[in-house]
Amino acid sequence: MDLGLRDRVAIVTAASKGLGRASAEALAAEGARLVLNARDERALTRLAASLPDAIVVPGDITDPAVPAQLVDAALRRWGRVDVVVGNAGGPPTGSALEVDDEQVLAAVNANLLSSVRLARAAVPHLREQQWGRICFIASASVRQPIRDLTLSNIARTGLWAWTKTAAQDLAEECITVNLVAPGLHATDRLLERGVTGRTGDPADFGKVVAFLCSEPAAFVNGIAMGVDGGAVSGLL
Ligand code: NAP
Repeated sequence: MDLGLRDRVAIVTAASKGLGRASAEALAAEGARLVLNARDERALTRLAASLPDAIVVPGDITDPAVPAQLVDAALRRWGRVDVVVGNAGGPPTGSALEVDDEQVLAAVNANLLSSVRLARAAVPHLREQQWGRICFIASASVRQPIRDLTLSNIARTGLWAWTKTAAQDLAEECITVNLVAPGLHATDRLLERGVTGRTGDPADFGKVVAFLCSEPAAFVNGIAMGVDGGAVSGLL
């Protein structure tokens, strides 16, 4: 299947490892040009060297100035932006009554606002060309809150609500806004949390992201695509 991504310009944040990296690699495999962001410049540069056409823009995505810098970099290098994949590092664990205001605000900044800012910076350019794909990497917690991941549960459900709303706002302009809701995947983040059991392959996850950002996914809009091996079992 031709995903129609050849020469499209895609920005992927938190892209040096794990699910972000796999998404960038899957988009690149379809011929997309990449703007790669994460904090570790050396890791990003190594990744960029392995892809056909990629630039790196190191920076902390929780800094409100960074999303617009990524869009500017795409415009400077290629004169356009077509796809944005918003991702950020996951927040720390904590039970509902343990987490304090400061932690909640930090999680909302990282796992909701950083992605909204990226979309906001890209949308004027997507609107101009009446084509765009916005895809956020969130968590299965948007469908089923995960115990002790209060901060993730709060921030990502906010991002899901924003996604659904923006999808309606932008639908007439051939711009889609979707979210991917991963269950357990074998990345460093998971290893750090010491989670065991059946896990998904990040490379497969990246291909799901690439599909949602593709030409044939034009009518797939405002969805939370579960990629969790069936782990979320709620009916609603
Ligand atoms: P990972 O393997 O730990 O990779 C995290 C990536 O994010 C790295 O490239 C890291 O690079 C980058 N990053 C972290 N903080 C950043 C920041 N402030 N600014 C820019 N880049 C930043 O994590 P992952 O497993 O791929 O998870 C990605 C997201 O999916 C997380 O939000 C995670 O909670 C969520 N998720 C993961 C799973 C899973 O099973 N893996 C399941 C559900 C949800 P630098 O350190 O160089 O910045």
